[in-house]
Amino acid sequence: MGRRVTVWNEFRHERENDAVAEVYPDGIHAVIADALEDAGHNVETATLDDGPQHGLSEEVLEATDVLTWWGHAAHDEVNEEVVERVQEHVLDGMGLLVLHSAHMSKIFRKLMGTGCGLKWREAAETERLWVTDPSHPITDGLPESFEVPEAEMYGEHFDIPAPETLVFNSWFEGGEVFRSGCCYSRGEGRVFYFRPGHETYPVYHQEEIQQVLANAVEWAAPNEDGPEIYRGNHEPIEDIDIDDDRTVH
Ligand code: ZN
Repeated sequence: MGRRVTVWNEFRHERENDAVAEVYPDGIHAVIADALEDAGHNVETATLDDGPQHGLSEEVLEATDVLTWWGHAAHDEVNEEVVERVQEHVLDGMGLLVLHSAHMSKIFRKLMGTGCGLKWREAAETERLWVTDPSHPITDGLPESFEVPEAEMYGEHFDIPAPETLVFNSWFEGGEVFRSGCCYSRGEGRVFYFRPGHETYPVYHQEEIQQVLANAVEWAAPNEDGPEIYRGNHEPIEDIDIDDDRTVH
């Protein structure tokens, strides 16, 4: 079923670095957007330099079922007001896919409450992702493991809260391992962190990666048929027997 997706990208490396522009001439967001459109989703894109709101106005988020976030060098330039708005929408049910170096984004750190740091190395090494939860819909259509031929290494310890569900573990040629696909719920919303995706390697052009992203959009989409949640002072639903009130002496 087609979901309304907003693909957000920092979109600086692609404009400033020829090696990156060769892999992603129209930006990482363009490749992700095409893949999600091919999977049947309705996709818009937004970038850091799309005005002071970074293309993420209230109207845009209101019309977004799932937001994907890629950032790396300019996390600090993301407006706090936008971060808070994204957080509110996640708590209200909007899905959020946090991609690769967005582990250090303001929004991910805010939603996790931890430092979110990790080991890294850029040596074009092989990564092998293993499915650790074959019952999970994010693994639909995937083999039990697959390789990213050239990857930036991310290694443990990854400073995140324990994922509610761990969907992928990665092994790297240099010996490290990493929790690569982490599911969380925050309020009424769902958050998925997905590791692969460095700007100088064609990771987002890879079929298995595109399949994971399309599946994750479906998984993270709001639960339209879920209950209305009320928070605050609440009248009892049943009659309360006040004779056994042991707090009154
Ligand atoms: Zn990277």
